[in-house]
Amino acid sequence: MKKLRNFPYSHALVLGLAKSGTAAARLLLQNGVNVRVNDKQANKQAEAVSNLQTMGAEVITGSHPLSVLDGIDLIVKNPGIPYDNPLLVEAEKRNLPVITEIELAGRMVESSIIGITGSNGKTTTTTLITEMLRKSSQPVQVAGNIGFVASEVAQTLKDEEKMVLELSSFQLMGVQSFKPKIAVLLNIFKAHLDYHKTFENYRNAKCNIFANQNADDFLVYNADDPVVREAVLEATSQKIPFSLQSRLDDGAWVDDTGIYFKSEIIMNRDEIALVGDHNLENILAAICAAKLNGASNIGIRQVLRTFTGVKHRTQFVDKVEGRSFYNDSKATNILATQKALASFRQPVILLAGGLDRGNEFDELLPYLSYVKGMVLFGETAGKLEKLAEQAEISFVKQAETMLEAVTFAYDRSADGDVVLLSPACASWDQYRTFEERGDMFIQAVHTLK
Ligand code: ADP
Repeated sequence: MKKLRNFPYSHALVLGLAKSGTAAARLLLQNGVNVRVNDKQANKQAEAVSNLQTMGAEVITGSHPLSVLDGIDLIVKNPGIPYDNPLLVEAEKRNLPVITEIELAGRMVESSIIGITGSNGKTTTTTLITEMLRKSSQPVQVAGNIGFVASEVAQTLKDEEKMVLELSSFQLMGVQSFKPKIAVLLNIFKAHLDYHKTFENYRNAKCNIFANQNADDFLVYNADDPVVREAVLEATSQKIPFSLQSRLDDGAWVDDTGIYFKSEIIMNRDEIALVGDHNLENILAAICAAKLNGASNIGIRQVLRTFTGVKHRTQFVDKVEGRSFYNDSKATNILATQKALASFRQPVILLAGGLDRGNEFDELLPYLSYVKGMVLFGETAGKLEKLAEQAEISFVKQAETMLEAVTFAYDRSADGDVVLLSPACASWDQYRTFEERGDMFIQAVHTLK
């Protein structure tokens, strides 16, 4: 079991009892730190609470009294808790350091981390890097959103293993000395401004992925993204760019037929199973990180020939009588649906709609040129129907259930068409999660066979 290094704290407050909080508390206790855990909700995770108590933690639930800060020299907070929480405002007044659990992971296995961040594409790129390294017989573990909690994985990571770690801006806000050996910065769009308040804060949080790197470390970055390009000027690590737009001597790039890393061809573009330019960016980023970590071209090619997408992210589901079905249920906003629509050059029947957040959908209009039909559901069905009329889409229908929507789309489609679920809206008006919505789509597609 790996231990925390250079850890000067003795009394930690773990704020938030989710999966990551429980893991952090356990890790701190195992390292001889006194731990107090605080969660606003009472009766949360009874079993985890009693385990932590048995290990010696003091657990306070039901509210966030300021007194939980007394005697504390470090706060490890759940990434989801915003910094305007009164407890954190008070902590700042008391000059208490506030970190997230990735800082703990970094204090155990700093030189083994391949970290990935960006506004979009994190999960896809994390998965691609993991698979490319596995197929190249390089031992890896995946952590973050799609895997296990980073600090938990770090404890048992073997010396020869790498941790491929998906990193959110919320996690990166709370770092002190954390740095990945290889950092990947995919893109920076306006996002999560409710949490970060300003774009500047959000950008700075993303930049924390390389802030502590030095000349022995690597920073893979998107040379086509102006915000990223400007941001990485501050970095002191070795910079490895990727671009869809220009040929690069020092990074990954494409031309009409091939994919390249520096001067070497990796594979032909038409061998790639994943659709969309946005995914091509993720692929180039993944190639850079994988090559820096010694992946083989054969391993990289094997992955890219067969990988059809992370579930619910422009994921290829199946082909039925020549119609290709794609599940992009994760597209809960307009930008994501734009990306999905831009991925196809064949006629598309778009399934869209969901929770009404009060916005209009005009920004989808320029992306509808390949859309021949729309099947709409949820609270926004009416608004999207108006958009379809504006775009002179040849057929539009509102559907009550996913099965009805998929069956109708199939009946009206022709050989060679794409049927795409990319709702541009959250799912909560009809489904518990976007995963549930995507699963219903997959099920409905399977009933067609
Ligand atoms: P994240 O983990 O950052 O949310 P995902 O890999 O889960 O990203 O992809 C979520 C959605 O974001 C996808 O369905 C797609 O619409 C969009 N997306 C993925 N990669 C990119 C990219 N490189 N640039 C822009 N949008 C992207």
